Amino acid sequence: MTDKKYIRDKRSPIPKSEAVSRMMSANKGSDTNPERTLRKALRSKGLIGYRLNYKKVPGKPDICFVSKKVAIFVNGCFWHRCPHCNYPNPKHNQTYWIQKFNKTTARDKRTQEQLKELGWRTFVIWECEIKKDADKIAENLASEILST
Ligand SMILES: [Zn+2]
Repeated sequence: MTDKKYIRDKRSPIPKSEAVSRMMSANKGSDTNPERTLRKALRSKGLIGYRLNYKKVPGKPDICFVSKKVAIFVNGCFWHRCPHCNYPNPKHNQTYWIQKFNKTTARDKRTQEQLKELGWRTFVIWECEIKKDADKIAENLASEILST
């Protein structure tokens, strides 16, 4: 009884931060679930022989088909500010978050430009798109990549 009350009291002031931390942990890391899901879908379409976190090109793309000069980025919706999900900024420490997000999106843009200059094709795949229909994404990627 006492415990229950204690937990409730402790939780009530921070629901927003909790939501934020959940999103953060869901989107961080280089071997996240959406990435694994997409790789599996790619393999099922015959797209094999990719490199992961390929370090020899800018931005260390998540999935690279090196000989075809194709880089695929799997972007977490929260961190990379997905245009489909349109997450609101966290309420707390807004200045910090806005700066952080701006930095991330600016870096993403720069990476795309650098890769383009090097003659690479880039594809940005959003986490929510993978959750929705990984198979369709893989199919589109396969027709783009295998045709060249
Ligand atoms: Zn999204």
